[in-house]
Amino acid sequence: MTSIKHLNTQSASFGERETLPLSLLNDFLYCPRRAALKGIEGIRSENKHTVLGDIVHEHADLPGYEVAKGVTLLRALLVWSERLGLSGKCDVVEQHADGSLVPIEYKKGKRRAFENDDAQLCAQALCLEEMFRWPIGRGAVFHAASKRRREVEFTPELRALVERSLTELRGLLDSQRVPPAIFKPACEECSLFEICLPKAVSEDSRAQRLARQLFQT
Ligand code: SF4
Repeated sequence: MTSIKHLNTQSASFGERETLPLSLLNDFLYCPRRAALKGIEGIRSENKHTVLGDIVHEHADLPGYEVAKGVTLLRALLVWSERLGLSGKCDVVEQHADGSLVPIEYKKGKRRAFENDDAQLCAQALCLEEMFRWPIGRGAVFHAASKRRREVEFTPELRALVERSLTELRGLLDSQRVPPAIFKPACEECSLFEICLPKAVSEDSRAQRLARQLFQT
């Protein structure tokens, strides 16, 4: 097995093939329109949640490693998967004395489970498994607001969700079509809210539907 301390100088390169960023998978599961606005339209935006997220990631974004209580902690490790056409960065990867690897993802909020965060973490594990040819059974999300760690098991269902979602995400990007906005609770915390205008777009669609019905009768 390759020592994980020497890998940050490498980068993902699969010839001409363009890799998908790990974070776009998270965006896709949060909302396909969000992934399309970023991946097709190239839109980026900040709100208090992304700024807080950047602060939380500040330490983890500095490449390097340290050893504590027999565990090597590698920060900002570049990871990739040729099979999945995926690349990105792990905030922290722990390497334990028995050789096991545990990816850790930092999130700004309190301890709670989100499918998109778990899938992003699992995708990191799939990259690590391919890179090191070493099975990875679990990872963890560290929630900065509550300073608590939540263990995530990489079940067959979660692995299947990642693979299925990547196929759907590729299909969405290939289609070059941005799905219409549908207002939902997640919109309130979305950094693209001001650009996407989900309430206005949803209202507009409703008005168009009503107008169509009017002329059909
Ligand atoms: S504001 Fe809502 S509909 Fe628009 S991209 Fe964000 S989550 Fe999706």
